Amino acid sequence: MTAPTPAPAATPAPAPAAARFDLPTIEGESRPFWDGLKAGVLNIGHCNACGKAHYYPRPFCPHCWSEDVTLKPASGKGVLYTWSVIHMNDQAPFKDWLPYVAAMVDLEEGVRVSTNIVGCDLAALAVGMPVSAEFTEVTPEISKAVFRPA
Ligand SMILES: [Zn+2]
Repeated sequence: MTAPTPAPAATPAPAPAAARFDLPTIEGESRPFWDGLKAGVLNIGHCNACGKAHYYPRPFCPHCWSEDVTLKPASGKGVLYTWSVIHMNDQAPFKDWLPYVAAMVDLEEGVRVSTNIVGCDLAALAVGMPVSAEFTEVTPEISKAVFRPA
């Protein structure tokens, strides 16, 4: 009687790709916005009925509920409204950015955007600081708008 032949070692399955918590779900309605960022244009929503801007862009105006809305390129100029310096985050890719600045910027078009501030000494951050947009590639398909001191 012979000992049973051990089963060959199973080939380990490749590790699943880590979830990316920083990537958007791009759908039909939001694709033009993301295509704009990829092309270096920060678009904001504009209502043709009441004339007000809105952000994030959506298929209706949050001021008057009109569906007569379109995208318009923003100037990319604004001021820092508020911020938080993030020193701890265990999630990829954020842990590779530490410390980073999560911020809200008021664009000159009158909308407030959530973003990151880059290229700024943390001690120099100040409410009302003029900032301007630049575009960072996140993946080959997705870019984001970040801001740095103007
Ligand atoms: Zn409106």
